[in-house]
Amino acid sequence: MGGLKAAVFIFAFLFFAASAYAGPKYIFLFIGDGMGLPQISAAEAYKGAANKNRDGFSPPEPLIFTGFPALGLARTYNAGSYITDSASAATAMASGRKASRGAVNVSPDGKSSYTPITHTLKGRGYKIGVVTSVALNHATPAAFYASGVGRGDAYAIAEALADSGFDYFGGGGIAQARGRNSDKPDVLKKIAEKYAVVSTKEGMRALKPGVKAVVINEVLNGSSMPFAIDGEKGSPSLADHTEKAIEMLYNEKGFFLMVEGGNIDYACHANDAAAAVKEVLAFDEAVGKALEFYRKHPKDTLIVVTGDHETGGMSVGYISSRFNAPIERLALQKGSHKKFINEIFKPYSEKNTSGASLVHMKKPVMEFFGIDLDALSGAEKASLEKAFVQSLTDPDYDWKNKELYMLYGGNDPFSNELLKIFNAGAGIGWTTYVHTGQPVPVFAIGENSELFKGYYDNTDIYVKMMEGKNE
Ligand SMILES: [Zn+2]
Repeated sequence: MGGLKAAVFIFAFLFFAASAYAGPKYIFLFIGDGMGLPQISAAEAYKGAANKNRDGFSPPEPLIFTGFPALGLARTYNAGSYITDSASAATAMASGRKASRGAVNVSPDGKSSYTPITHTLKGRGYKIGVVTSVALNHATPAAFYASGVGRGDAYAIAEALADSGFDYFGGGGIAQARGRNSDKPDVLKKIAEKYAVVSTKEGMRALKPGVKAVVINEVLNGSSMPFAIDGEKGSPSLADHTEKAIEMLYNEKGFFLMVEGGNIDYACHANDAAAAVKEVLAFDEAVGKALEFYRKHPKDTLIVVTGDHETGGMSVGYISSRFNAPIERLALQKGSHKKFINEIFKPYSEKNTSGASLVHMKKPVMEFFGIDLDALSGAEKASLEKAFVQSLTDPDYDWKNKELYMLYGGNDPFSNELLKIFNAGAGIGWTTYVHTGQPVPVFAIGENSELFKGYYDNTDIYVKMMEGKNE
């Protein structure tokens, strides 16, 4: 080979190599909704609680994703506030642009729509999947297939799901399937024209790759999957949905899969620490399914795990617990706040429209929370009595009433007060019933994972996932 020929050959090779590089072929984005560092560290402490060392202390046990080699921090502020909501945070990650509260891929001036990474990658031949533990048309998943809408317009979002042409949706149900005022045609029918819609374990198992599918969880709590802590029989886990998505999406050209642990946020809005910790562990199990895939395709796969914001202003450590955080006590709670309300308190209050008394709650509260009502302080008893009466007489109080909001944050008053006592006993503190402006950690493994080291804006998560794909 002559010198010139060799140079041309090398140049052509380099050119080909450069233009052929398109970044990772298989991209996973796991979003723990409301999952900041406190939720993660509480889950690690809870996971480690069973194993005492020689000093009688249980060190935290790492989660699957906290063992990933690359770690960064993302600022979560949106276009108008230090405190984001899920719609604007998901828009930032899906499209690389800041948006206003409630906006799903809409510019802050409302004039233009953003194109999420999923539509771009679909144009390059990728298969696309969206999995969540809450409604499939909730704000976070919405930003991965819908554009130019507000999060409140769940019906339009569900229509966008039907029109997306994406390959796999799984997890929760469809919220407001007949519109906000229940006056529109069932959007599930429109979805079923284009997708195989299944809602049983057998139906889920029978799905074979090549079919476009929407898998609605067999057991639902409203339009969300049940809380992991409630361990509903017959309900596939977030990990089951993730595993199925991987099977359905796998192909030679590549895929993008977003998995949201949406129930983490719901648990934290209720300041339900035990439920939140179990949701993080269920989310971690779902990450484990992606990690199994990564081990088979290490050179082509990127897994990113982050939160969209922190919820609840949670802390490991509380005033009354001082230097001690007995997080193992979270195991005493037998179910979510929802389960306590629906299965214990509501049936009781419906049966005892008159003559209801906190004394009657002594046994169920002991069984469900491990709280001895007789051992409470006078102040605790007084607050609990007040909340008990509020739940009996006006559980759907106007949360815009400032005094009631400061006390109960829009949650059911009685279970909210029980959780305050319970959480304090486990050394867990909370400062808000909504989100906080704290940064969230970003964990990554696989191709391009080193790009995720550092401190950056949530919009950069999009840029880093797209690395190599803009040429
Ligand atoms: Zn939230």
